[in-house]
Amino acid sequence: MSQPKPRSGSSIVITIVAAVMAVVGLYTIGLALNGNLDPTIQILYFTIAVLAFTFVVLSFTRMRRGVRIGAFTPPKVLSVVKCGQCSFKQIKNFALGDFVFKTLGKCTQCTTGDLSINGIYTEGSPKK
Ligand SMILES: [Zn+2]
Repeated sequence: MSQPKPRSGSSIVITIVAAVMAVVGLYTIGLALNGNLDPTIQILYFTIAVLAFTFVVLSFTRMRRGVRIGAFTPPKVLSVVKCGQCSFKQIKNFALGDFVFKTLGKCTQCTTGDLSINGIYTEGSPKK
């Protein structure tokens, strides 16, 4: 099983940008709280601050989600192939387009029966 490598490179860039945005947000809030400013400029600074903080929050939530996806290994999907004539049974990896009762051609064992997908299941987590 190969674990997907976390994309640490982009995470570092996002962290740096988020840190810059946080500083910008704090700075603009500081400017906005300066009572001597024109109210429209105060609103402008507040807007910039809110946008900066929104970016910080979004980038961190996206990063956390990315980590979760990186640690998550999708369950293995398997298709059960059975022969209609003999007792031949095979379990193969699920392929796109597989569905239950799909025929896959002649049985390799008895050469008369038709092989068809009998079931599709996930090789789930060990917990039962
Ligand atoms: Zn067969």
